[in-house]
Amino acid sequence: MTVHRNFIAGEWVGSNETGTNINPSDTSDVIGQFARANAQQVDDAVSAARHALPSWARSGPVERHDILRRIGGAILEQADQLGRELSREQGKTFAEGKGEAIRAGQLFEFYAGEALRQEGLKIPSLRDGAEVEVTREPVGVVGIIAPWNYPLAIPAWKIAPALAWGNTVVFKPADLVPHSAVLLTRIIEASGLPRGVFNLVMGRGSVVGEAIITHKYVNAVSFTGSQDIGQRVAQAAAAQMPIKKVQLELGGKNPLVILDDADLETAVSIAVNGAYFGTGQRCTASSRIVVTENIHDSFVAAMSESMSNLRLGHALDSETTIGPVIDAKQLQQDIDYIDLGQQEGANLVTGGQRLNRETEGFYLSPALFTECTNQMRISREEIFGPVAGVIRVRDYEEALAVANDTEFGLSSGICTTSLKHASHFKRASEAGMVMVNLPTAGVDYHVPFGGRKSSSYGSREQGRAAMDFYTATKTSYIAP
Ligand code: NAD
Ligand code: MN
Repeated sequence: MTVHRNFIAGEWVGSNETGTNINPSDTSDVIGQFARANAQQVDDAVSAARHALPSWARSGPVERHDILRRIGGAILEQADQLGRELSREQGKTFAEGKGEAIRAGQLFEFYAGEALRQEGLKIPSLRDGAEVEVTREPVGVVGIIAPWNYPLAIPAWKIAPALAWGNTVVFKPADLVPHSAVLLTRIIEASGLPRGVFNLVMGRGSVVGEAIITHKYVNAVSFTGSQDIGQRVAQAAAAQMPIKKVQLELGGKNPLVILDDADLETAVSIAVNGAYFGTGQRCTASSRIVVTENIHDSFVAAMSESMSNLRLGHALDSETTIGPVIDAKQLQQDIDYIDLGQQEGANLVTGGQRLNRETEGFYLSPALFTECTNQMRISREEIFGPVAGVIRVRDYEEALAVANDTEFGLSSGICTTSLKHASHFKRASEAGMVMVNLPTAGVDYHVPFGGRKSSSYGSREQGRAAMDFYTATKTSYIAP
């Protein structure tokens, strides 16, 4: 079997250690052997990025635009195949996998445009005759560390703006999804990007991730993943001098509020989508469904009914609406939380069963709890699987209080036909992203993405807002 290698200084480089990547829908399907980089190779990648920096940082807008356009165009052209391979590796349905590939292509095209739209400010100084310029420069070598749930889109929304604003990149994908990373790297390689500007180092967080976050010549780290590792990234960044610039996108325990006046059908479809699509493995998934008492029983009945139409199966089966969980470890974590919910006194209405399919895979039927309190651990901790709980509340005021009573603050949602409650919720929700009559997951790429409280740290991703992370501001003064 061929071993897929790391991409360092424009060369594909092997390693002593490799990992086997398997399809979570069919564990007999081995996707490949993937090199796991060691600390020395991370150092090589950082050196390559450092040496490539001065010339890439000075490259003109047309060169950057054309390269990013080419990458975006190639991703869009190959979206079918990329989507299929992503679904095979990660377990989300083909529709979701292809949608994600398309999103990755769109992100590169968006930032191709941003490369052309760079701007600054030239204004009079407060001192007579003197002038002030405010300009943006690249931050330098950027370490990009990504999770496994969006193997193409998250890397794209970090790599594309990094390159657009003249930075060089050392990219570490999650150990569970190296295949998508290699496919993306091949497209980047073919784009004409100068050697060393982009480097791929696969492997374990404890080795490759640590080597990136502790490397002297990595100037900034953009991290998406769990709270614990995110905190570790920030600690490592602060332990160095100069302190590294850091951006963290972490977990969520996102509330979806459903008020008595909601359209029932809309609310159910939003709740099912938000809780279970992507097998619930989305940082923006709504795992706490906060329902006011008059609609509670009809909502729960309609939601259970709707869930009986979900088709759990092989990600690449066209009938499938919910794919398997990513791996055995995550499956066990999900099952442990389902047991815990029952011990805590929540009522498991449907799902939560380990199911067999034609192929051996990590199949877990979507689980819905009712009679949850917001104090239960299943309501407070991120499960990151197809598990959601309904919390019954009296009225809007209690719903809002419960929605905000969490350490997280990524996204939140409300289903209501009341303009008054919708407007109030948009202002009062303590989340970075608020959805009215839309699922908590599913965001646009031309606007800022990110959370508050324990869900995020640092400046926003996506849209033009990404500029704040990927550039350093310079203020220069000149006297006549
Ligand atoms: P994780 O924290 O386990 O891993 C994330 C990345 O960090 C991986 O590439 C991993 O290899 C690496 N890593 C592990 N240890 C490291 C270390 N010591 N130093 C540096 N890097 C290290 O997260 P995961 O399991 O891949 O993803 C699931 C988590 O990601 C969930 O908590 C989810 O909410 C979160 N997530 C957040 C967002 C967001 O935008 N807020 C988006 C997607 C996923
Ligand atoms: Mn993890």
